[in-house]
Order: sequence, then C-alpha cells, then structure tokens
Amino acid sequence: MDTDSQLRERLLRLEESIAAACRAAGRSRSEVSLMAVSKTHPAEAMLAAAQLGLTLFGENRVQEFAQKSAQLQPGQRTSLRVHLIGHLQSNKAARAVELFDGIDSLDSLPLALRLNSAAGTCGKRLPVLLEIKLSDEPTKTGLAPGSLTLGELLERLPELAHLRVDGLMAIAPLDASPQQTSVCFRALRLLRDQIAAAHQRLSLPELSMGMSGDFALAIAEGSTRIRIGTALFGARPAPLP
Ligand SMILES: *Cc1c(COP(=O)(O)O)cnc(C)c1O
Repeated sequence: MDTDSQLRERLLRLEESIAAACRAAGRSRSEVSLMAVSKTHPAEAMLAAAQLGLTLFGENRVQEFAQKSAQLQPGQRTSLRVHLIGHLQSNKAARAVELFDGIDSLDSLPLALRLNSAAGTCGKRLPVLLEIKLSDEPTKTGLAPGSLTLGELLERLPELAHLRVDGLMAIAPLDASPQQTSVCFRALRLLRDQIAAAHQRLSLPELSMGMSGDFALAIAEGSTRIRIGTALFGARPAPLP
C-alpha cells in the first residue's frame, strides 16, 4: 500500500474510534477537534493529510518546522493551521510567533511577555494554551496547578492584548494506568473550571488532552482537542540520543 492510501486508511480507522468515544461519552463529534501531530514527518506528510481534510497540525520544535515551512508554497502554508506543542525557549519566541498560528505550550510569564511583544510587532493576536503539568515526573514541563508561577501568569494574561488564551493543554504521565490517566484528564478539566470561575476575563474553552494511546479516555473527560501522531502517520523514528 502506498503512503497516501495508508494515511487514508489510518484516518478512517481513527475517525471510527473517535466517533465511538464521542458516542460513549454522550458528546457530539463536532465538540472534539483533531490535531495531526506531524513532528518528525516531512512536509509532504502534512500536505497529504491536508488533502484528506485535516487542517490543524502540531509540531514540537521551532527549527524542525522552520525547515518544513520553507518547503511549502505560500498557498500551501496558509491552508494549514500549525501550532507549536513542544517546549519553547524564550529566546526563540519571536521566531515561533512568525512561524506558528498558535502556541499550545505556554509555561511561564517571561515567555508570555516575549510572545505578546513579538505578536504585537507582527500585528497578530496569537492563540495560546497554558501547558499544565499533571504529575511530578521531573522531565515534564508545564505549570504546576496551584503554583505561584501559574497564579502570577493568570493575573497578568488579561492585560497581554496580543495573546488570546484559549484554554489548557496537558500530557498524561508516561506509563500511567488507564485509571490514573483518566484521573489526570479529569483534574485538567476541573482546574480549567476553577480558573475560569476565578478569572472572569479568561474563558478557556479548549482542553487539549489525549494522544494516540489515550484519546478515548480524554474524550470521556471532556477533551476538545486531541493530538494524534502515531495513529495517523505511523511510528516515528527513534529520537537521536
Ligand atoms: C508527539 C506528541 C503527541 C502525539 O503523540 P502520539 O502518541 O504519537 O499520538 C501529542 N502531544 C504532544 C505534546 C507530543 O509531543
């Protein structure tokens, strides 16, 4: 089977599973958007996915997407919405604002300030999600619920006019049981509800949670945006050590 028909086949199967998860949760399919996580796959894979109707993409490295973006025609690039879902260093904020249509991994006030000022320079209002750390795995990035850093950021966000805060993003802990994973996803939803109640100027409709291995659990707990790599594009090459 060629790559394009393989992708079509995987998308069909994925859509069946998403529809089943939505039915089981009593939710409408239209409440959950599908982000195609194209990291490590070439620009052609993004275009092939776009041909099949996918419009929202996730990339985790600034440099990697800069290279892919350079291979896209302007018309091709504007037909895709591409968000950064990986950790962003403050010194790459300006480059990231030029390249991406949204940043889903905002995790500090200094980064928010840099993004706001770069978005102002580009004349954009940049959609962002706050990345929340759902476990204390030392390798995880993201804002800890209840932390001073998160509190401070929430206080300042409403005045950062070039950022549009759409909601929260989280990655479930590695190697968690399905039950632990569900508990984490539920915690993200409750945190969103709590923040929205305490900060009337923020609305936070989006909950970006769920990946290839756990999207059904995430949909059951209220995910509005699942981030799917492997189940669409196949296995990624192992990262270099
Ligand atoms: C790689 C990645 C995904 C996709 O993971 P799969 O298990 O391949 O679906 C989702 N979210 C983030 C933040 C990622 O880095």
